[in-house]
Amino acid sequence: MPDPAIHILLTSDYEIFGDGSGDVRRVLIEPTAQILSLCEAYGARMTLFFEVAEYWAFVRERERLKNALGYDPAAEMARQVREAAARGHDAQLHAHPQWLDAEFVDGAWRLNMQWWRTSSLPFGDADNVHSLVGLLSRGKSTLEQMLRPVAPGYECLAFRAGAYCVQPSADFIRAALACGLRIDSSVSKGLVKMDALSQVDFRAAHHHHQPWYVDPGDITREAAPGDRRLFEAPIASAEEPVIRHLRWRDLTRALRRSTKQTTSSPASRSADRLSFGTRLARLFTPSYVGWDYCLPNGRRLFRLLEQFARACDRPVNPLVMIGHPKVFQAPEEFELFLRLTKRHFIDTGRARFSTFPEFLRAFEQSHDRLA
Ligand SMILES: [Zn+2]
Repeated sequence: MPDPAIHILLTSDYEIFGDGSGDVRRVLIEPTAQILSLCEAYGARMTLFFEVAEYWAFVRERERLKNALGYDPAAEMARQVREAAARGHDAQLHAHPQWLDAEFVDGAWRLNMQWWRTSSLPFGDADNVHSLVGLLSRGKSTLEQMLRPVAPGYECLAFRAGAYCVQPSADFIRAALACGLRIDSSVSKGLVKMDALSQVDFRAAHHHHQPWYVDPGDITREAAPGDRRLFEAPIASAEEPVIRHLRWRDLTRALRRSTKQTTSSPASRSADRLSFGTRLARLFTPSYVGWDYCLPNGRRLFRLLEQFARACDRPVNPLVMIGHPKVFQAPEEFELFLRLTKRHFIDTGRARFSTFPEFLRAFEQSHDRLA
């Protein structure tokens, strides 16, 4: 049987909430353990995008946290990721720079929102962690030191920016290359998030799921032929009516309030005031759907895989799926997705579950054969 043409890359942003809230055991360690054991039951491997900036804060504030929580969150994160790597999962680099100066005061985190966007950091150097080169190089070495004892030869090759904030991207691309990173997985075509903190607009991105070597001036654009340094493995996405992703029992809830995740942003509060008719119409309007294992409809997640697979026309095709353990609430739906995927794609040789280094090897070999 030839090597499967489709590499399914399951990824989790391994972190608590971006405002510092959330108990590490309850919102991170426990749901991740459940997600990993579901993956293992179906032969799937997970890539944990390990949020290094909050991990460094947990290490810095270790004693205060042990007093406040009765356990050591940094130690639990490191142990879980090491055990996952020893069982064949992978970890790659994720960072939310607002944690760089974080302090734990009176039982809560104080973050510096000035550093929300990775792309707002200066280019810098390895000695300055408040810079792109400093953040990426220190993050990469944190992960390599953590994992090499259990996974010899482990290399950190891939990065995902906190809150997807990699734009403008020229300095980020230069820094990623200077630090030896090969893959970015922050882009998701169609995603737009413009608010007081984030500046993300991926509507013009090159593709919904196929990777591209990035233009050195703009991560959403394809490089000139021959420039094969950094490539983007985008989070797979589609533009579809929201209604396709809901189960019947979610419908009444969706009609009662806004259909997007509940946040307390002014935008969602105004959406809550919309008429029933407007809300109904919105359900039928095509909008961005990220391929997210936390979506509460496993059958629909599988149909998205079938839809993406029909457009996989290259010798090696990645399909990157995202998820966040902190909002993982439908294990039975994720399991349904894994069961259908195993039966129809893995067992039939059409796809394999891969890690980023495995995918990169297969992708470059196929390029070399074509060259
Ligand atoms: Zn994140």
